[in-house]
Amino acid sequence: MIELKDIYRTYQIGESPVRALRGVSLSVCKGEFIAIMGASGSGKSSLLHILGLLDKPDRGDYLLSGRNVKTMSEDELASLRNNVAGFVFQQFHLLKRMSITDNVRLPHIYSGRKGDFRKEAIERLATVGLQDRLDHSPNQLSGGEQQRAAIARALVRDPLMIFADEPTGNLDSKNSAEIMHILKRLHEEGKTIIMVTHENDIAAYADRIIIMRDGQILSDERKSGCEIPEQDADNGVDVRADLKISLWRNGRFSGFLLQALQSMLSNKVRSFLSVLGILVGVASVIAMMALGEGAKASMQEQLKSMGSNLLSVRGGSAKIRGATQGAGAVTRFTLRDVADIAALSSVVKRAAGTVSGSAQLVYANNNWSTSLDGVGIQYGDMRSSIPSVGRWFTTDEIGKREKVAIIGVTVVKELFGNTNPVGKTIKINRINFKVIGVAPAKGFAGHRDADDVVMIPVSTAMYRVLGKDYLDRIYVEAASPSLIDAAKTVVGQVIRKRHRLKESDESFSIRDMTEIQQMMTSTTETMSLLLGSIAAISLVVGGIGIMNIMLVSVTERTREIGLRKAIGARKSDIMLQFIVESVGMTLTGGLIGIAAGAGVSWALSVFAGWSVKTSLFSVLLATTFSMLIGLFFGLWPARKAADLKPVEALRYE
Ligand code: ADP
Ligand code: MG
Repeated sequence: MIELKDIYRTYQIGESPVRALRGVSLSVCKGEFIAIMGASGSGKSSLLHILGLLDKPDRGDYLLSGRNVKTMSEDELASLRNNVAGFVFQQFHLLKRMSITDNVRLPHIYSGRKGDFRKEAIERLATVGLQDRLDHSPNQLSGGEQQRAAIARALVRDPLMIFADEPTGNLDSKNSAEIMHILKRLHEEGKTIIMVTHENDIAAYADRIIIMRDGQILSDERKSGCEIPEQDADNGVDVRADLKISLWRNGRFSGFLLQALQSMLSNKVRSFLSVLGILVGVASVIAMMALGEGAKASMQEQLKSMGSNLLSVRGGSAKIRGATQGAGAVTRFTLRDVADIAALSSVVKRAAGTVSGSAQLVYANNNWSTSLDGVGIQYGDMRSSIPSVGRWFTTDEIGKREKVAIIGVTVVKELFGNTNPVGKTIKINRINFKVIGVAPAKGFAGHRDADDVVMIPVSTAMYRVLGKDYLDRIYVEAASPSLIDAAKTVVGQVIRKRHRLKESDESFSIRDMTEIQQMMTSTTETMSLLLGSIAAISLVVGGIGIMNIMLVSVTERTREIGLRKAIGARKSDIMLQFIVESVGMTLTGGLIGIAAGAGVSWALSVFAGWSVKTSLFSVLLATTFSMLIGLFFGLWPARKAADLKPVEALRYE
């Protein structure tokens, strides 16, 4: 079954080469029980590793059922280790954080076959007499019991051959005898067993004893001949590997996920600390985006309450420190101007003139000074100021300079408390006015309370209260958003014509709300950029933290990686295991971060009164990002783990 021809193996440590095997030739029949003996350092383990496909010879040929091992790929060798070989080591190499049962069924996750294989694991444990220890962890078992569990693990894939390297080296004589009885029985059941030992009474269980010295075979004695002749067809074993093991088939991925979870949970504090950076980064991204969205939403709300497609025409230059602020540099608008602008029906939907001033209000014993707006009939619709309690002015009231008023909610609170103001009479600058409505609440616009206002008909304000014969401002609503610029031009032309102004005259200005909007958005964008870069930095720092901890974890678990490779894990399996682990960690950090960020935004909205809005988009973004960080920063440590050579990883102390 096995044919070794002139095998050489040299290890390179620094400058000096160690020639561990120097021309070993050997053939092994199916069903043999071989003991390899010799002094320490004579090359026994090296030979066993080559026989067990854990290592490749530098020179010479190894034919396994007629196939040369040289021609096999790494994945194929891994698959063969999983399918035809079982290993038992002196140090047992059980994984500490799993139960015995889980340790025993571990080779199955690399087999690509479906099922949880608990039953098989329990069966094998029963054959080595551990049926009462199924859920114990390796630490809870004696050395002999651990080695029996390791044998059960070697048996779980029903291998043809069992390779044992000093299986009794760490055991007392009673336990050694038990282990040897188990191996003897397996041999009787037809398994091929190759065992390294340096004790004569252990070697005595075998049928064939090979003695090595200085990397060469000194003697090779059989108690009986090959039971099955070499040429027998039965002796050729099918050792083709199944190389098409899909990740998604047969629950392999969820198996990896479970393992990652196990390793994360076994190091809870460390895992938590290492994802802290990610957690903070994600939390700040979420909070930042919630604040940004909230600011945007409240801004839009404000803009809507200001009115849409709105132009504001005012006397005076748009330039704050313009040179043309001399006397007579301000155009004074009249109600005729408003009518003419409103008549431009191709671009203008409606227009309303306003005057403003301040007013002293009195109701019963309450005094309140506030700002006064004299408004035209269209103002209510244009600026969303139609009362929900009470009513808006009538054309008649505006035409006849009636003494009626609509007051904002702040004024209501100050003058009336909780009583309904509609129908009551208040004094505005000592003149009696009847309250006909309460303006809808608008909140704060910048620093000004937009609800601290009293509105009266524009004519009443001009001639009865403020004593002005001109308007301060004309609001113009363009017919559609695309007509805002056209409306600006046409309205400007009309005003210039009516007031006989030159083209260059800057005694009035027309502004649209998009300017205000742009100004507000650019401020919030600067804020977001700033917060965003802080978040990005903490995510990168968090990622580096993850990489660091993964590198530590790879080093710490070198022997585990070696063991996994010995039982058939391929390079991609190891890689995947560590990637899943780092992505799992960053994702967990990310999810906690999302919760924390949402919590912070919620607290800001409840306790500080900020407007926040956690969006699904930001949650998805944060989730994706934390996964990508895990992937990116986990890649290198995972590669490092996957590239470890099984033999060296197993020797790692
Ligand atoms: P034995 O199992 O008979 O004690 P080994 O096969 O383990 O001997 O080792 C043979 C020689 O090769 C020893 O000198 C040992 O130090 C050396 N050796 C074994 N494995 C390695 C390795 N991975 N790297 C370097 N030297 C090694
Ligand atoms: Mg050895």
